[in-house]
Amino acid sequence: MRHFELLIIGAGPAGLTAALYAARDGVETALLTGDLPGGALMLTTTVENFPGFPDGISGYELMMRMMQQAEKFGANIVRENAISVDLKTHPFRVRTNSDEYSCAALIIATGASPKMLGLPSEEKFIGRGISTCATCDGFLYRGKVVCVIGGGNTAIEEALHLTAHARKVFLIHRRDQLRATKALQERAFANEKIEFIWNSVVIDILGEERVSGIKIRDVISGQDRQLSVDGVFVAIGRKPNTSLFADQIRLDDEGYIVVDELQRTNIPMVFAAGDVSDKTFRQAVTAAASGCKAAIMAVRYLAELKEAGYPPPWV
Ligand code: NAP
Repeated sequence: MRHFELLIIGAGPAGLTAALYAARDGVETALLTGDLPGGALMLTTTVENFPGFPDGISGYELMMRMMQQAEKFGANIVRENAISVDLKTHPFRVRTNSDEYSCAALIIATGASPKMLGLPSEEKFIGRGISTCATCDGFLYRGKVVCVIGGGNTAIEEALHLTAHARKVFLIHRRDQLRATKALQERAFANEKIEFIWNSVVIDILGEERVSGIKIRDVISGQDRQLSVDGVFVAIGRKPNTSLFADQIRLDDEGYIVVDELQRTNIPMVFAAGDVSDKTFRQAVTAAASGCKAAIMAVRYLAELKEAGYPPPWV
């Protein structure tokens, strides 16, 4: 069992910023990266809206720099995946696939994952024509026909990215208006490779070994039709990664961890930051900011604990 004053779970902008702030303040800090060190930004191409990079920066490079910066100030970046968490006793316990940790303060920064359509045929084709990441898989569809499902910023960014590879991109949206920002909408409308299919939902994914088409339903007329596509990119939003904590911490009705304005959860000394507790902004810069706030609060409470005689005998 390894003990740290502060343990952070998740290595996106929230977790890494928290690690930077806490370690720089002299707190013994470890961060469990999980399977994808760097988080969801590792899968994006250029990040154009993180302040300080007027020419943009690749998601990968941005995250690598954040990791280096946290390590430079003494944070222990541990490439392990948390598989169970016990918040009912203090110090809190976190088990990974290869070790066990205890900590006086915990910051949960586990992010959010893509939502899926929930069709039985969808599972069959994951990795065989269904994807949630155009940046990762777009190059597989050079010269092919693909569709993107969704009408938010992610869907439009995915569609625009795919036009660099595919010869045609259908954008299938369940309403007749996009949720994406105007700037993105305009870029998509101006792109000849993108064809919008409005008021339509995907009701089945077709194929033998790989995806060869989809069945869609027009929600106004109720009519079904088939569309031949080689790839389906699902971009219908995200769900928070809270399964490790679900029965131990207060979540809202969509599964996000409930935090106050100081990133505190309902459990003393447990904080949450980034997309796992943010369904509104979900930006790298807001995640980093919430990670900073969580770390400042954790450092403050740890100092109070120390004043009261920390480390206690159980450490
Ligand atoms: P989102 O904004 O929640 O959009 C999800 C889209 O999927 C909506 O158009 C929704 O339709 C549709 N949808 C949801 N469930 C569906 C279902 N079961 N079947 C069919 N369609 C469904 O999610 P997002 O696009 O992933 O964006 C998440 C957050 O990240 C947002 O805050 C967004 O602004 C942000 N983001 C920002 C950038 C950027 O700034 N460059 C890039 C990507 C994401 P309705 O519209 O009908 O609800």
